[in-house]
Amino acid sequence: MKVTVIGTGYVGLVSGACFAEMGTRVVCVDVDAAKIERLKKGEIPIYEPGLEDIVVRNSSAGRLRFTTSLAEGLEGADVVFIAVGTPPDEDGSADLSHVLGVAREIGQTMTGPLVVVTKSTVPVGTTDRVREIIADQLEARGVGGCGCGDRCAHTIDGNNCANVIDCEGARTISFDVANNPEFLKEGNAVEDFMHPDRVVVGVASEGARSVMERLYKPFMINSPRLIFTDIRSSEMIKYAANAMLATRISFMNDIANLCELVGADVSQVRRGIGTDPRIGSKFLYAGLGYGGSCFPKDVNALMHTAGQHGYRLEILEAVENVNRRQKEVLVGKVRRAFGDDLSGRTFGVWGLAFKPETDDVRASPALVVVGELLRLGAVVRGYDPAAMETARVVLGDRVTYCETMYEAAEGADALLVVTEWKQFRLPDWDAVRSVMKGAAIYDGRNIYDPAELRARGFTYEGIGV
Ligand code: NAD
Repeated sequence: MKVTVIGTGYVGLVSGACFAEMGTRVVCVDVDAAKIERLKKGEIPIYEPGLEDIVVRNSSAGRLRFTTSLAEGLEGADVVFIAVGTPPDEDGSADLSHVLGVAREIGQTMTGPLVVVTKSTVPVGTTDRVREIIADQLEARGVGGCGCGDRCAHTIDGNNCANVIDCEGARTISFDVANNPEFLKEGNAVEDFMHPDRVVVGVASEGARSVMERLYKPFMINSPRLIFTDIRSSEMIKYAANAMLATRISFMNDIANLCELVGADVSQVRRGIGTDPRIGSKFLYAGLGYGGSCFPKDVNALMHTAGQHGYRLEILEAVENVNRRQKEVLVGKVRRAFGDDLSGRTFGVWGLAFKPETDDVRASPALVVVGELLRLGAVVRGYDPAAMETARVVLGDRVTYCETMYEAAEGADALLVVTEWKQFRLPDWDAVRSVMKGAAIYDGRNIYDPAELRARGFTYEGIGV
């Protein structure tokens, strides 16, 4: 089995490396020549625990290769994954130009039978569009296949060949499509991919199903949860999953804000409700709202899809509104203590990435927190174990980037903890206290014990506690 992965970002690179780890021959293709050059030298362009090891190991073994040439990548391939970005468009919809552009190139380039899999998060109906685009390109080349499912030219069975364009045997390059949404979490991506709690594959043919079954078999030894659905359902599963997780986060943040008003403690409330097996304990932490490259864009894209069908997802509208407001809660507390003019004040900020164990700052709540502090005139001293460079690209030189977490606290009137990296959990409080000018801790992730900090002479503010 030979696999091609197009797009070597968080999803494409991790998928390609993990398939190779299971013995599959993989070629990763990207238009970013600088990225491909770095990967060829064994340099990993993103921070993702465990990724470097398997990329280097499988590259050395010759199972994992990198190229900018799609033609080279597709040579002899059985399966091609489209794993390019689907960033938000101005109207909130998913920008599909990269995915559909790649589909066009595949149709122009492929030379043999192929299963084309959308792995990018794509709105319902996109994989069908990919199928149409490829079929059109093959048709234009005079090698048109129907793309309807099973290798139509030779196994036409009358049931699934409604889209036949030209099925005259040898002239036809046939292909199948499938959708295989990715559920990996940045920061734990390799582990998630190697030991998935489920793999969802949307197919419309037995041919695609058996190829995908074979490819994922090595990942199913401990958790045999390969779920086949129709293509539109698998596309929807990805959005529904992210929307549900985002809903839990906003729900708990809303409850946390009410806890503060009524004198309850959201951490205790979380334990009390999370032990109900119907609710479960995951994703019930109050904080500064969700960020990253997926939840915000996917929630908006799903609302956009609903709108296109004349439907309003009112729950998700509320989820987004609560999330937008939540990112401002911590600075709201700072303003209540220090006023609206923060000039002459210094704030240390621990954590810039949208969550721990990643260097990704896309839609990070930290950007809103830091942006607000700067807008109000403050000096900001930031530290993140992995995201200093990515943050600098967005925030520029308006922030003082510090070498250590303690350096970020130096001279600070207050310290804001924005991302819950492990190394922030048990700091040397005496060292923190000795370098700070003030003694205020704003804990945006509820990782500290308020009583302990107050006993050490700090003032403490958390979220909903
Ligand atoms: P990314 O931005 O990290 O990487 C995308 C890559 O695609 C880039 O390297 C880019 O150069 C490349 N690319 C763009 N156009 C190309 C083309 N025509 N040919 C070849 N390469 C091209 O994106 P990502 O975070 O890996 O996300 C990819 C998709 O997976 C998105 O749809 C995203 O929603 C989804 N997803 C992401 C995550 C995540 O945690 N990041 C998780 C699940 C699903």
